[in-house]
Amino acid sequence: MIVFKTALALQEQLARARQNGQSIGFVPTMGALHQGHVSLIETAREQSDYTVCSIFVNPVQFNDPNDYKKYPVTTDSDMAMLEQCGADALFLPAVEEMYPGGTAGLEHYELGYLETILEGKYRPGHFQGVCQVMRRLLEMVRPHGLFMGQKDYQQCMVVKKLLELTRMDAETNLHVCPTVREADGLAMSSRNMRLSAEARAKAIAIPDALSFVKSNLQPGQLLPLMLEARSFLTAQKMKVDYLEIADAGTLEPTDNWNGKQKLVALAAAFLGEVRLIDNMVIS
Ligand code: AMP
Repeated sequence: MIVFKTALALQEQLARARQNGQSIGFVPTMGALHQGHVSLIETAREQSDYTVCSIFVNPVQFNDPNDYKKYPVTTDSDMAMLEQCGADALFLPAVEEMYPGGTAGLEHYELGYLETILEGKYRPGHFQGVCQVMRRLLEMVRPHGLFMGQKDYQQCMVVKKLLELTRMDAETNLHVCPTVREADGLAMSSRNMRLSAEARAKAIAIPDALSFVKSNLQPGQLLPLMLEARSFLTAQKMKVDYLEIADAGTLEPTDNWNGKQKLVALAAAFLGEVRLIDNMVIS
């Protein structure tokens, strides 16, 4: 695996790969890699000739400066993991490489209601930051395939919108890959390593609540079911940002199910200062 710190060097390598007729798969990450990331690399490798992973903790997508400061950085073990799963290139840029003009006054993306609901509502500015870094990364890599996790359901929808807004969808296909979970059901996340043993034990209430929604879904009013599922989280003293049921295609909130509409249940909750998110397609 070759490690690139500058976009220029990475682009030279990718130009050679393209000249050799190779397709490029791209897996953007913020590092602290786990099996969820590995599954994305593996899928990218299956579907591409040349696989690039990036590790960049993007300062502009953190609405909470403390969360940014405490974001785990494990670059040495990340590199070992990427070597092992056969990534061809790692892009490891510094903040100045991604934002040479600084991070103030960056461009704005018209994301519409996607930015005002769920994660957008509770993390103001977060999806603008995601678009700002993703646009830069995509312009540098220009992948044929972009591999992202369903774990961040709304982020996948935002990136799909970004691809459309920038017309990059003409050359880049977004592949949304399934969420990888721990044996007890907790969705793998870099933030899990910040949980105490006690908090880690409580965290399974999140997938349990979502599975409860899935198993008890009935046509008609959904509010009682959402409230009951929410109580799984409050019983563990979590601060709940949301537990909602939404249309799986548009993410519009749904309070009455006709028995046919495809739905997703999504949750975000704090265990102490660690904020976890998860979702499940429930119908
Ligand atoms: P992150 O490093 O958390 O920004 O995540 C980088 C990519 O990995 C994103 O596309 C995430 O959706 C994806 N990802 C994170 N956790 C998981 C997981 N448990 N299963 C599958 N993909 C994941």
